[in-house]
Amino acid sequence: MSCDWPGRWCHVQKFIERTGPFAHPDFEPSSESLGFLQETCKLLIIGAGGLGCELLKDLALIGFKNIDIIDMDTIDVSNLNRQFLFRPKDVGRPKADVAADFINTRIPGANVTPHYAKIQDYDESFYRGFHIVVCGLDSIVARRWINGMLVSMLQYEDGELQQESLVPMVDGGTEGFKGNARVILPGMTACVECTLDLYPPQVNFPLCTIAHTPRLPEHCIEYVRILLWPKEHPFGEDVPIDGDEPKHIQWIMDKSLERANEFNISGITYRLTQGVVKRIIPAVASTNAVIAAACSTEVFKLATSCTVPLNNYMNFNDTEGIYTYTFEAERKEDCMACSKIPKSITFSESDKLQDIITYLQESAEYQMKSPGLTTNIKGKNKTLYMPTIKSIEEKTRENLKKTLSELEFVNGQELYVADPTTPMTLTFKLSLGSNME
Ligand SMILES: [Zn+2]
Repeated sequence: MSCDWPGRWCHVQKFIERTGPFAHPDFEPSSESLGFLQETCKLLIIGAGGLGCELLKDLALIGFKNIDIIDMDTIDVSNLNRQFLFRPKDVGRPKADVAADFINTRIPGANVTPHYAKIQDYDESFYRGFHIVVCGLDSIVARRWINGMLVSMLQYEDGELQQESLVPMVDGGTEGFKGNARVILPGMTACVECTLDLYPPQVNFPLCTIAHTPRLPEHCIEYVRILLWPKEHPFGEDVPIDGDEPKHIQWIMDKSLERANEFNISGITYRLTQGVVKRIIPAVASTNAVIAAACSTEVFKLATSCTVPLNNYMNFNDTEGIYTYTFEAERKEDCMACSKIPKSITFSESDKLQDIITYLQESAEYQMKSPGLTTNIKGKNKTLYMPTIKSIEEKTRENLKKTLSELEFVNGQELYVADPTTPMTLTFKLSLGSNME
């Protein structure tokens, strides 16, 4: 191509035009791999935020030309310190559009297509169009959804997975100074749902530490937030804490300082107070850079087979020194997404429909957000509860209070569950005990 100057790809060619000790067993050095990488291979980057900007830059510089990037957000002024494809003049514009424009202008030959949309706006036919999906997301729900989509695209013939239906997913995540990169081959290696317990629900400090033995400035702020605010009602009865209200944050900070002085703890600032109250984990540009580099390397390996890919989960932590660790996350035999075993749940006849919904939300295994349930009673489809559509929610709300026997459930009743965490409808088999409390 005209935009290729002599030696432009010589560093990439060193990896794909000769073999090496870490090469994949099936790897054959060839001068054609570069053509595949540049002209044929289609990548999808999900997220155009801190990780997404890094991923797009890395992958475009490696030589991937056909890249789509999807993000539903617009640029906020607070993004500019690390989302380096954006400038002050871009504030308010869609992240995907600006990121694509920047790379297309800056890197000759790049062909980036933006999508200012939610991943849920597209269906299977869209996702089938890509060779590899790379995620730089900060949302677990979105990560679970795209994982479910890629798993649902798998095709089997006589129980054999059809390789061409498999779209690998490279997933990066960062939180402050910690990050991880993982390679998911849906149907073959552990998927997001197989390892759902790696994303524990919100970590809180133990209440006894907050109340009796604070050691950190955060403990003092939590003390004021959890124990003092409801006792003192500083802004009137029933006034909840508003993390964006400076008077509230100031009050919490002043009280936290008093407590911190009592225990000789330093480090309380307005910023920290607001951070703890609003549960903000600072985004760190260097962590994003490291994780995006690791993910982009994995994409390169998957696209060319020049090296064996990561197997399959890498943790990175530079809170104190630098630490990385790689392990093989294992598939869960009865994974909700990638195994084909229907899930079974056990309830008693006197339990209520609400109990099932609460269980689906609170169990570490499912962590659903707002499950909707349907079933089949005497050959007829019946909507039990549907939280997402207001009129149906109102009509089905009273079912929540009904017991399972009032709902005429039988042992082995199949429940079909829809939830924002997955594009699929999940089937649960209910085993119904009689009145065991
Ligand atoms: Zn799985």
